[in-house]
Amino acid sequence: MRMSQLFATTLREVPAEAEIASHQLLLRAGMMRKAAGGIYVFLPLGLRVLHKIETIVREEMDRTGAQELLLPIVQPAELWQQTGRWDVYGEEMFRLQDRHGRSFCLGPTHEEIITWLVANEVQSYRQLPVVLYQIQNKYRDEIRPRFGPLRSREFIMKDAYSFDRDAAGLDENYRKMYEAYARIFTRCGLSFRPVEADSGAIGGKGSHEFMALADAGEAAIVYCDACGYAANVEQAECLPPEGDGEAEAQDAGQARAGEASEPGWRRVETPGQHTVEEVARFLHVQPRNLIKTMIYLADGQPVAVLVRGDHDVNEIKLGHVLDVRHVFLADAETTERVTGAPVGFAGPIGLAQPVPMWVDQAVMAMKEAVTGGNAKDTHLVGVDPTVHFPAGYKVADLRLAQPGDLCPRCRRGRLQAARGIEVGQVFKLGTKYSEALGAMYLDENGRSHPIIMGCYGIGVSRTMAAIIEQCHDEHGIAWPMTVAPYQVIVVPVNAAEAPQWEAATQVYGQLQAAGVEVVLDDRSERPGVKFKDADLMGFPLRVTIGPRGLKEGKAELRWRASGQEEAVPLDQVVSRVQQAIADELQRYTP
Ligand code: ATP
Ligand code: MG
Repeated sequence: MRMSQLFATTLREVPAEAEIASHQLLLRAGMMRKAAGGIYVFLPLGLRVLHKIETIVREEMDRTGAQELLLPIVQPAELWQQTGRWDVYGEEMFRLQDRHGRSFCLGPTHEEIITWLVANEVQSYRQLPVVLYQIQNKYRDEIRPRFGPLRSREFIMKDAYSFDRDAAGLDENYRKMYEAYARIFTRCGLSFRPVEADSGAIGGKGSHEFMALADAGEAAIVYCDACGYAANVEQAECLPPEGDGEAEAQDAGQARAGEASEPGWRRVETPGQHTVEEVARFLHVQPRNLIKTMIYLADGQPVAVLVRGDHDVNEIKLGHVLDVRHVFLADAETTERVTGAPVGFAGPIGLAQPVPMWVDQAVMAMKEAVTGGNAKDTHLVGVDPTVHFPAGYKVADLRLAQPGDLCPRCRRGRLQAARGIEVGQVFKLGTKYSEALGAMYLDENGRSHPIIMGCYGIGVSRTMAAIIEQCHDEHGIAWPMTVAPYQVIVVPVNAAEAPQWEAATQVYGQLQAAGVEVVLDDRSERPGVKFKDADLMGFPLRVTIGPRGLKEGKAELRWRASGQEEAVPLDQVVSRVQQAIADELQRYTP
């Protein structure tokens, strides 16, 4: 490819719409353009990268024995109504009607349609197991599309679905997919970590997310260096404080004396003190001596949720224990009605309106705690949950794991925190979809059973952005060799000088003939401009042909990622480049 022909315009300025490196660099390097919020054009260079990732994905899927097919993007509403997800998906689903008024959606995922397909095609145990996958656009009307392809509304996903006779078969397919995912992300040059995950709206039990480690990642993860436990914080379990040895360490502090209202606890005035930090400072205690009481709406019904002052509620865990679809913090009006006080003074004792009370297990180990007093500028001190909480409360693991927590798995290491980009997720679905859509098989004895399913997704376009998040510097992208749009760029320092031009076109032709993916920068730009563009676009190797090297019959080979340089005799450029490519590819071989 000649640079003068390449349909790619680089931008010097950082586009204002882009906040993070991958989004900025994809635009600046001429790989992508925005068509609408969260909807992008992939230009030739960007598309080549996507194709490379897709090739890696296909090779690894095929290696597991999975078979590729292509499902429709436009899907009939009826299938989604049968599983109940036509309603559950809510506003994230793009919906449309045809000219006859029939409802369809643009597939945000494909469990329904593939299960319908398999229900029709599979009758006997002899046809199982089978694993099917596709690579295709998905549509999700994300509430906040941002960060370019990391969270877009139209994106490319590889989705695979496994169909098995029994749980052991599912376990085996799940393991194969998990291993294939590790190979895929290794080959893409990503530094990643599989973590235990919540299965979210897809449903089912048992799931892992593959997280590309990056500060720009939206996901918070915790991991233990001692045993290798790793989980999305949404999912990470917390030990009861006994297991944590923290109960003894608790320091009740020197609470101010107040009016004694009942044996054991006292009411104190805390004028203008709202936040945990303010109240703790005012009462000369630690945040961990406070109990935060929050009013949530669980499918519209108010509940009181209590966690220790230095902890946060895990709304996913809360949703699970309450067995509801939506949980969110109540509005001020509801909170004031339930507590009988302005926001900031909620507590478990003396609520104006009785509501179900859910208490995080760490709270139950507290002694002499401070709680809100359900009245303006009022807190209670000396509260002992086991003695003073009104009867009927329920205890559960409701909090977010934090760095420093004792590892819930090995109970030796301490959890550490990191951020990640979820590039893939694997789920054990069980029979949720097969039962809803009648995907049954007959066993050896002619008995009918629902097929056991798993599903497995990789965000292909998100993976491209995640790679850039990990592989860039202030000059631009530094693609791993495995996914680079072209492997090599040949740059004559001055294309108008005949000897340089001749040497450059000769090297370019030889590299092409050797099967190397190569760009020739044939433009009459200044060398600085050409070098800048090459660095921005991130070709892993640059061959520079300039007057000084030519005098000695040499070209300069430069590695984009490391900046390493090497003078190579012209007649050895092809073999040296081939060697360098082979070495680079080897680095990413699992
Ligand atoms: P997230 O939690 O980030 O919204 P998800 O868990 O809803 O993602 P899945 O249903 O597990 O996503 O989809 C499989 C994969 O598709 C994800 O692991 C991710 O790589 C990719 N993906 C999901 N949503 C988007 C999006 N809006 N833009 C780009 N890729 C996405
Ligand atoms: Mg996911």
